[in-house]
Amino acid sequence: MSEGIIFDIREFCIHDGPGIRTTVFLKGCPLRCKWCHNPEGMSAEPQMINSAGSRRIVGEKYQASEVADRLNSQADILCANEGGVTFSGGEPLMQSRFVKDIIDLLDKKLHIVLDTSGCGTHSDFQMLAARVDMVYFDLKLIDRQAHVKYTGVDNDPILCNLRALSEFEKPFVIRIPLVPTVTDTDENLSAIAKTVRGLPGLVRVDLLPYNKAAGGKYASAGMVFDPGYDESAQLNLNIDCFKKEQVEVRVA
Ligand code: SF4
Repeated sequence: MSEGIIFDIREFCIHDGPGIRTTVFLKGCPLRCKWCHNPEGMSAEPQMINSAGSRRIVGEKYQASEVADRLNSQADILCANEGGVTFSGGEPLMQSRFVKDIIDLLDKKLHIVLDTSGCGTHSDFQMLAARVDMVYFDLKLIDRQAHVKYTGVDNDPILCNLRALSEFEKPFVIRIPLVPTVTDTDENLSAIAKTVRGLPGLVRVDLLPYNKAAGGKYASAGMVFDPGYDESAQLNLNIDCFKKEQVEVRVA
């Protein structure tokens, strides 16, 4: 049975999938999004956080069976609230074997969501996507150079996994973090709408308004927040790009 690193297990979440959910935050992410609001989730290792005069280690090792037991103990209440369990991060694909082992031990009545950037190997993505009920797929930028500039990685594997997901016909929600002047441009939103329109399994697109509080977390994690864009610029909430392509959209 595998072991992995988790930086939070949060109960009563209402934004990570249908109903009331418990969200497991896996530590480690291959992306370095300039706007990341979970900087403590980027490193795959436990790390010291200094906050309000106290110090704590973020990131704890767990056995897959420990996590599954904890989640299974909540199964009745989660199901009664039409919810379930969400695997988020960081990036769950970075600990795909660990996540798979947890899922395989879960009560079969639990609804499971994979919340992913899509950045991982095709086989890891397939292994997890095949095991969950729904995927929340975060899509940031279609232009490859802009993707490299703002996230540190090429988006080819991400778009490849998105196409694979649509072949599964697994229900999925596209989530777009709206970052002023970066991801919220008409050009990028139109390109995303054209990319996802008509894909089998697409439930809707969620536009996630920019979180200005993100920068405050970096110093406590010993990191520097250097976004490289104007955080105060007016956000472009252009839902017409999606309506034009007949893609259901909402502002989350
Ligand atoms: S993919 Fe998500 S967790 Fe990873 S760096 Fe980007 S915003 Fe942060």
